[in-house]
Amino acid sequence: MAFYVQKFGGTSVGTVERIAAVADKVKAFRDAGHDSVVVVSAMSGETNRLVSLANAVMEDPTPREMDVLLSTGEQVTIALLCMALNSRGCPAKSYTGSQVRITTDSTHTKARIQSIDEGNIRADIAAGNVVVVAGFQGVDELGNITTLGRGGSDTTAVALAAALKADECQIYTDVDGVYTTDPRVVDSARRLDKITFEEMIEMASLGSKVLQIRSVEFAGKYNVPLRVLSSFQDGPGTLITTEDTSEMEQPLVSGIAFNRDEAKVTIKGVPDIPGVASRILRPVSDANIEVDMIVQNTGDDNQTDFTFTVHRNDYKKAMAILEALQVELGARKVVGDTKIAKVSIVGVGMRSHAGVATKMFERLSKEGINIQMISTSEIKISVVIDEKYLELAVRSLHSAFELSGNSEL
Ligand code: ADP
Ligand code: ASP
Ligand code: MG
Repeated sequence: MAFYVQKFGGTSVGTVERIAAVADKVKAFRDAGHDSVVVVSAMSGETNRLVSLANAVMEDPTPREMDVLLSTGEQVTIALLCMALNSRGCPAKSYTGSQVRITTDSTHTKARIQSIDEGNIRADIAAGNVVVVAGFQGVDELGNITTLGRGGSDTTAVALAAALKADECQIYTDVDGVYTTDPRVVDSARRLDKITFEEMIEMASLGSKVLQIRSVEFAGKYNVPLRVLSSFQDGPGTLITTEDTSEMEQPLVSGIAFNRDEAKVTIKGVPDIPGVASRILRPVSDANIEVDMIVQNTGDDNQTDFTFTVHRNDYKKAMAILEALQVELGARKVVGDTKIAKVSIVGVGMRSHAGVATKMFERLSKEGINIQMISTSEIKISVVIDEKYLELAVRSLHSAFELSGNSEL
């Protein structure tokens, strides 16, 4: 007998017919003698719809009220799924995050889980119920509803799997596993049988939204076996696992991630004196803006050009901060670009190989794609390019590193 936490994403519960199909699947699992806790997302498109409603009412919606609003999406699907299970003769009980008592900090719209009181769930399972929990939400110590950031149902599932010591956390979605890159962009992308936690964290943080970053970090930290599978077809999916050191030859590159959500801002001609970088970045971080890549360039004239990337939602705020700094620091000008994209190659195999960056840059140059920024770590290389070349870059790197279905790794 196995005990799994099974999470079904937005597309998997996007219509009543699909909710019925999920109920059939959960019931079949239970009829085979296993236990499960099910986590569901809101119906696909629902969270976006709620966000637009909020934006139509208020320019910068109050975070606390945003969470009250967004958490309703998941409350609908837990109730519907339980009804679907009940109508099949399967006892099931729904819980919102606050009913379980998934306690988080109070950072509205991107709260972090602090603890889970799993007593109710255990008692319900022992009484023969399937327990269905709303993903993406919790409650802070004062009883305020919180949400865990977009894609946060994955993190609810992993956190429950850790708290309940489940045998596996299964993430059912609209693709049958983690691919070498987004299969919607590259037709020949290949499903990976397994990928390391370290690589999956990089892929997720560099833009592959198949799993929320925090869910992978959590699974790695608490050793939760994590698997991505299709809701619509049977198959082994992709297991996210610790590095297998018995495999002598790691592939050089395991996957390609990309991100269209960033914008680039530059302050040019800043006098090159100590402390300039911190004077530029201090007001940016005080405004709660996360900075990703940073490049600083000093010419012969003792003047520095300082460039960094931020989320596109923060572009206007970042530009306004730099424009104020331009006067204060005596800089020459401030420029920005929202039409950029970041493409990254990821692989633990890079650690032990030289020349991976050269191969990447040569391929991009062969395609006539100009690299605007570069950043590297032991297991990834990222470049910022013009957004209009994104798909070309991803496809040609996918082929340069022989990642497609037909090639041997
Ligand atoms: P859910 O609603 O089930 O949480 P998501 O939309 O969050 O589903 O995640 C699944 C999507 O992730 C896929 O439809 C796919 O387009 C996208 N994706 C991006 N990168 C990858 C990748 N490397 N492998 C698989 N899917 C990916
Ligand atoms: N419904 C939330 C979202 O769309 C959480 C999730 O689906 O994981 O981001
Ligand atoms: Mg998701």
